[in-house]
Amino acid sequence: MDYIVVSDLLIFANHGVFQEEKTLGQKFYLDLKLGLSTQRAALSNDLTASVHYGELAQHITTLFQQQSYDLIETCAEKIAHFILSTYPIVDEAHVRVKKPWAPITLPVESVYVDIVRKRHRAFLSLGSNIGDSQVLLETAIQKLNNAYIKVTKLSSLYRTKAWGLTDQPDFLNQVIEIETFYEPQTLLQHLQNIELELGRERHIHWGPRTIDIDILFYDNQIIYESNLIVPHPYIQERTFVLEPMCDIAPHYIHPVLQKPMRYLFDTLKTDTASQ
Ligand code: ATP
Ligand code: CA
Ligand code: CA
Repeated sequence: MDYIVVSDLLIFANHGVFQEEKTLGQKFYLDLKLGLSTQRAALSNDLTASVHYGELAQHITTLFQQQSYDLIETCAEKIAHFILSTYPIVDEAHVRVKKPWAPITLPVESVYVDIVRKRHRAFLSLGSNIGDSQVLLETAIQKLNNAYIKVTKLSSLYRTKAWGLTDQPDFLNQVIEIETFYEPQTLLQHLQNIELELGRERHIHWGPRTIDIDILFYDNQIIYESNLIVPHPYIQERTFVLEPMCDIAPHYIHPVLQKPMRYLFDTLKTDTASQ
């Protein structure tokens, strides 16, 4: 990856927890490092194929002075989001917000936050077997689209028999691809909020539900945390996930099993037929 860097951009602004910081303002220094490929711009010698760093510095200065935030964490997040959503060629935004006059009664040179935000691709599965499932899936997808998520692909809808706990109504299932700036845990939180808004109640595991939204894959990452496992552990056993995955990403390779979706789907069909 190549980088374009703007360092020590000086901006006077009003961020801070204390009232004096909000009214008097203070100095901040920003370091911006944009990860992208500069080769196309370099070979064509064309600025429009790259990022105009003069304009970038101007936009960021305006953005940084527009509003007052308590936290420099929030400032850094807003800037990274602005960069990734404004410049589609940028894959990675490193942002450092330094506060040399931070109100600390000790001799420090500066305090700063340093973040890296990336453009991510994830696959989600949606399922519903209570209420008007088609409307619930559509509403969930509308709610998913926000400043941090763009739904980029939708599979067909599949009517399937319940899995795991079979004595319940059939499900309507779908898989979607999203582009997102959320990190995995923030994405999970967002999905769970949407489930709650759409009336999800958890009574029995694998029981009936208005809506269930799972993270199937997140880039090629492997995550094993107490509340989040990615790739989702049952993908290879679920026709209702593999079939719609084959609609939108048949060649996507499962990062743990190292096999494409099409292969996993065919294998599962063969195994189920021979049982
Ligand atoms: P399954 O995960 O087998 O499809 P389920 O979707 O019915 O079952 P839920 O009751 O919706 O299970 O979720 C239980 C917990 O699973 C959630 O609280 C969440 O923290 C956790 N979880 C772990 N990995 C994931 C993931 N990849 N996507 C969504 N939730 C996950
Ligand atoms: Ca599920
Ligand atoms: Ca779930």
